[in-house]
Amino acid sequence: TGKTAPRRLSIFGSTGSIGQNTLNVVDHLGGRENFEISVLTGNGNVELLARQAKDFGARMAVTANDRHYEALKSALSGSGIAVASGKSGLMEAADRGADWVMAAIVGTAGLAPTLAAAKRGADIALANKECLVSAGDLFISAIRKGGGRLLPVDSEHNAIFQVLEENQRHAIERVVLTASGGPFRTASLKEMAGVTAETARAHPNWSMGLKISIDSASMFNKALEMIEARHLFGLTPEQIEVIIHPQSIIHSMVGYTDGSVLAQLGAPDMRTAIGYALSFPRRPNLPIERLDFAKLARLDFEAPDELRFPALRLARLAMTRGGVQGAVLNGAKEVALEAFIEGRLPFLAMAEITERVMDDLAGLPPAEDMDDVFAADRQARQRAADLMKLEIAG
Ligand code: NAD
Ligand code: MG
Repeated sequence: TGKTAPRRLSIFGSTGSIGQNTLNVVDHLGGRENFEISVLTGNGNVELLARQAKDFGARMAVTANDRHYEALKSALSGSGIAVASGKSGLMEAADRGADWVMAAIVGTAGLAPTLAAAKRGADIALANKECLVSAGDLFISAIRKGGGRLLPVDSEHNAIFQVLEENQRHAIERVVLTASGGPFRTASLKEMAGVTAETARAHPNWSMGLKISIDSASMFNKALEMIEARHLFGLTPEQIEVIIHPQSIIHSMVGYTDGSVLAQLGAPDMRTAIGYALSFPRRPNLPIERLDFAKLARLDFEAPDELRFPALRLARLAMTRGGVQGAVLNGAKEVALEAFIEGRLPFLAMAEITERVMDDLAGLPPAEDMDDVFAADRQARQRAADLMKLEIAG
């Protein structure tokens, strides 16, 4: 049988939660037999990165931090695997000719390399929602120009991607993003005021990286996802609904003009979305827990409370204001999140700081190119840091 050339994959952020799940999926789908691994990238976890690179026969391994270059180099000495580091290393990774790139670096750090890979025409499996929140239409147009596919990996957007009938676009009325509600779904504002990163990171259903887990507790994750959905599927803000669904079985839904609602259901396991993005348009065979409906017995829904979860309101504000407000929201939020993780900022102050920065920078002009996006991001971070200094000084 004539074997076609194996697909070449790169995984940006292979050492993270999504990255490790991606390699697990690759393994289940035949590993080195069926795929060629071009580049794996990580940050501080050099040991894991080196082990992954050897196990999967990667051509290149990149640590985002120059300080870890020597450690990675020595961990891979004699393996024949190329090693690079820093921002330039990530850009080199993006330039390598992978056909499919998993964009799973956390935060704005993932933007530049993902954009470069998109421009080169690679299919982009997008976990890094910050790309779309910050760069929105510019990112979409970079994908279009590059000619690759944009495959949503965020479970909600992957669900929508699975049930959105492309040839019925005119009949799409709304999308409904489901949210688990996180660990503080039933907590009062008073209770939330005093929580620590340790309690905030404990997600009831999903196992994820630290930052996205805390973003789930504050519902900033859902806020980012609303903006992400807008750009991915070309929706108006009014077409995007959020519903609390504590069991995380329905991953999201699309409502049509005939009243039909199509939903995608499954166990809360990111490998379904990753596998779909990797095998699209086919469905892979994966050992995901199968739903037992009799055992599930019920699925619950609640309207989200925007007083306790102001992040949702901020997402709508960013969408209606448009321009670089997405980049500003995300940049300010990242700085506030960092401060919360380090115990320097109370949980509820993350939204307060973010809103003040968004208001202060509401006059920034729309971005004409990526430099404008990066500038808005930098300004938002600076402004957030300044506000926090004032706050802490009292
Ligand atoms: P994680 O923290 O587990 O992993 C992040 C990865 O990025 C690691 O490989 C890390 O080495 C790398 N990294 C960290 N800082 C970096 C930097 N400054 N420069 C370059 N690389 C850096 O995060 P995660 O949970 O895997 O999430 C990754 C992305 O996927 C995020 O954008 C997140 O919002 C999104 N996402 C995650 C999930 C999930 O289930 N974990 C679900 C949906 C979307
Ligand atoms: Mg999600």
